[in-house]
Amino acid sequence: MWQAEVRVDLDAIRDNVANLRARTSAEVLVAVKADGYGHGMVPSARAALAGGATWLGVATLDEALTLRRAGIDAPVLAWLLSPGLPLHTAVTAGVDLSAATPALVDELVTAGRRAGRPARVHLKLDTGLARGGAARDEWPALLETAAKAQAGGDVEVVGVWSHFACADEPGHESVDRQLAAFTEGLALAERYEIRPRYRHLANSAATLIRPDAHFDLVRVGIAAYGLSPVAGETFGLRPAMTARARVMLTKRVPAGQGVSYGLTYVTTRETTLAVIPLGYGDGVPRHASSTGPVRIGGTVARIAGRVCMDQVVVDVGDEPVMAGDVATLFGPGTDGEPTADDWAAATGTINYEIVTRFGSSRVPRHYD
Ligand code: PLP
Repeated sequence: MWQAEVRVDLDAIRDNVANLRARTSAEVLVAVKADGYGHGMVPSARAALAGGATWLGVATLDEALTLRRAGIDAPVLAWLLSPGLPLHTAVTAGVDLSAATPALVDELVTAGRRAGRPARVHLKLDTGLARGGAARDEWPALLETAAKAQAGGDVEVVGVWSHFACADEPGHESVDRQLAAFTEGLALAERYEIRPRYRHLANSAATLIRPDAHFDLVRVGIAAYGLSPVAGETFGLRPAMTARARVMLTKRVPAGQGVSYGLTYVTTRETTLAVIPLGYGDGVPRHASSTGPVRIGGTVARIAGRVCMDQVVVDVGDEPVMAGDVATLFGPGTDGEPTADDWAAATGTINYEIVTRFGSSRVPRHYD
């Protein structure tokens, strides 16, 4: 018997990856960082590989090593590395690493020597996101340092890559600009005799709507978990996560009753309140106060008043709701329940944050 749970449909992840794979001749990397966007890093990685992914992507070194410790031996790229990390552990574990600075390439040289094999590196170029990656005027120094290290046998340049800022906004002019800049970066790399096996740029959105940006490898995250990065289109993807709980108790209250901390919600008629054991400690955004949709029985009701740490109250009107009934916050939407997109719209965020929050909270995660 469960009180609250996050259910993850691993077949959906597998099928979504197969769907994405069928759209491209490039290889597919699935981003399983942040605990697989809340779906569980290792189970999601296995489902992604079963669906035809040949690479896994993570942010941190720890995440990469966790995949290896779980016995996953597929290629893994880790892309968020501060100076001074024990990179030799990644080289020994056969993890590919991203580098955006000559200093990091130097660290990789040292790590490779310590590990007794060349570090496998993906050089990251900033083509317009202005986040990670070498700024344009730093490309020559990065490429030159990497070319020398490669010539000396200390690193192997496996990839050259970049990341989009606005691929989820169809027609956004920055997409073409970034694509052109990336192509220039690849041409510059060639002048340093860097001809990587993997050139990669596309995230889920670009994988779905910009086939001209696929190159040798696409890096998909959100779409693998069944959520669309592009408003209004589903691309045949199936959301993998459901968040639900059992009603703890119900009570009948009169009109004029203030509800939850601050008494910000006031009933307008006699009504039934259902108390649900999920709160911001479980991933419910506090911004869902008086807005978050919940399906209980045959109705979709709203959270009444403030989201608390461990619970929310839902005003279900005259619905015959009882303690023990299932309250679904979001799921695939196939049975009338709200979706992560509905929750994102109700709370002013994106579907990525909704699933990552719930899945990485204290709520037990169960797999189908
Ligand atoms: N590549 C990089 C570098 C990322 O940081 C991410 C996720 O943020 C992805 C790919 C996957 O992005 P998406 O989930 O939009 O497909």
